[in-house]
Amino acid sequence: LTKLRAGLNKGDSFLTRDLGTLFSGDKLRDDAIEELESRLLMADAGIEATTWLIERLQSEVNAGRVKNEKQLRAVLKKFLVELLSPVSKPLVIPPFIKPYILFVAGVNGVGKTTTIGKLASRLKKEGKTVLLAAGDTFRAAAVQQLTTWAERADVPILSQGEGADSASVIFDAVQSAKSRGIDVVIADTAGRLHTQAHLMEELRKIKRVVQKHDPYAPHEVLMVVDATTGGNALTQALQFHEAIGLTGIAITKLDGTAKGGILLAIARRMALPVRFVGLGEGVEDLEPFDAEAYAEALIN
Ligand code: GDP
Repeated sequence: LTKLRAGLNKGDSFLTRDLGTLFSGDKLRDDAIEELESRLLMADAGIEATTWLIERLQSEVNAGRVKNEKQLRAVLKKFLVELLSPVSKPLVIPPFIKPYILFVAGVNGVGKTTTIGKLASRLKKEGKTVLLAAGDTFRAAAVQQLTTWAERADVPILSQGEGADSASVIFDAVQSAKSRGIDVVIADTAGRLHTQAHLMEELRKIKRVVQKHDPYAPHEVLMVVDATTGGNALTQALQFHEAIGLTGIAITKLDGTAKGGILLAIARRMALPVRFVGLGEGVEDLEPFDAEAYAEALIN
């Protein structure tokens, strides 16, 4: 929580900075709602989540329940939690699904490889056996980078040469996991191809191929988005969702310059479970998402 707070507002919340100035006496100033609305939009919360929050805030104000800074802060937090709670669902890996097949998707640069490494390390510490599948075969450096992360997390990795068929790498990894009794396969997937249509087709293909092993696979399709890219994160998630059907989101780089409002936009628009938040470049810097902690970090 400390790290999240430090990342999101550097001790000076975008949303609740100088809240006292929005009051004159025990009344919220006339322009205060407008000011809060623009603060939310500036923080990438998007029109829909902003409208949702502002409508609720307005009715609290009308009912005379927002008379000072403390009340305003409490009301904001309450509605932020209400918005985020439905998407606060941790990744739970049932022990009877073996191997549990987890795809990790996202465009290049968002932190996909790093997130896979952190996740592998976390699952291993929980006592699970993990195998990485280097399915991002299009980019030369991707396999090497993932191999470095596999070493760091101390888990095995299955890869083929650059330009190998992604679906066949992942298919083989699942086969190998089955015969070795491995609990979880984390499959990296392409983050960019010649064209967007080609990328989406590739993702559909690996899904079809893996379903030859298990008709219910992949059990999780975790989309990685970069909080610092603002509205692009939502656009990417919508595109990937249409192509392969996402089941969860991990949002990275919340330790950077991101204001973190994009998660409100994603929650409101997609209602997809937010599994993890990325808070740095180290192996430990991945935490399960918690609505209460996130709301707290946004306002304090
Ligand atoms: P990929 O292209 O999506 O696989 O992205 P990478 O995993 O290679 O990450 C791209 C860059 O973002 C690297 O320099 C990572 O160290 C950095 N990165 C990834 N996640 C985080 C995070 O949560 N916080 C910060 N500050 N940097 C991150």
